[in-house]
Amino acid sequence: MSRWESLLVVQDHDTRADQLAHRLATLPVRSQLTGVADQIADVDRRLAAVDDRKGELSRSQQRLEDEIASLSERADQAEKQLYSGSVSNPRELQALQDDVASIRRRISQIEDDELEIMELTEPVDAERATLVAERDRLDAEQQRLSEQLAADEADIAAELATVRSERDAAASEVPDDLWPEYDALRSQLGGVAVARLVGTTCQGCHLSLSAVEVDRIRKLSPDEPVHCEECGRLLVRD
Ligand SMILES: [Zn+2]
Repeated sequence: MSRWESLLVVQDHDTRADQLAHRLATLPVRSQLTGVADQIADVDRRLAAVDDRKGELSRSQQRLEDEIASLSERADQAEKQLYSGSVSNPRELQALQDDVASIRRRISQIEDDELEIMELTEPVDAERATLVAERDRLDAEQQRLSEQLAADEADIAAELATVRSERDAAASEVPDDLWPEYDALRSQLGGVAVARLVGTTCQGCHLSLSAVEVDRIRKLSPDEPVHCEECGRLLVRD
């Protein structure tokens, strides 16, 4: 067995750890959560617009109700005067009666306006109820996804801890002088520094070496460092 063999074991663990770290960084549930947060922001914007509209309608309705209250008071006072017996002049009485009738007509018009506003309010209330229900649904979805994310992260973290402790055990078998090149190649070659040569094929890049090169390598001791002529990885031979 060549002295590079122990590095291959470390490489397997490092590759596994890299894959787990990649899975952790790209968990689909995380982008689903971002999608839900965007939807929540959209619903909140629409809710704010509906609330503004509802506020306007409520204020209009309140203004009309205030006007009705003040007109009713005026009509009541005029009627009180009318029936108090304090006014006896027929022309004045007539004027008072006309005044009361005119105020009552005005109140009736305002009540019609108020009805119109109440009709306008109904669809706004319905839209608000729909949005609130949608918001509740999204809140529940966000909660569910957050819990799933936490569970997925915990699973991967546990797996990663196991792989790292196995890697550390394997690393203790590697001769010290092999590390600098392993670390350098790993950072240059996308995480894979060492590969086995199977037949004429490098398992790092899956390309075949030239017959001349294979012939040359076969004549060397397995402990001699040899690099794949295609990808530059250290080749481990039996
Ligand atoms: Zn290669």
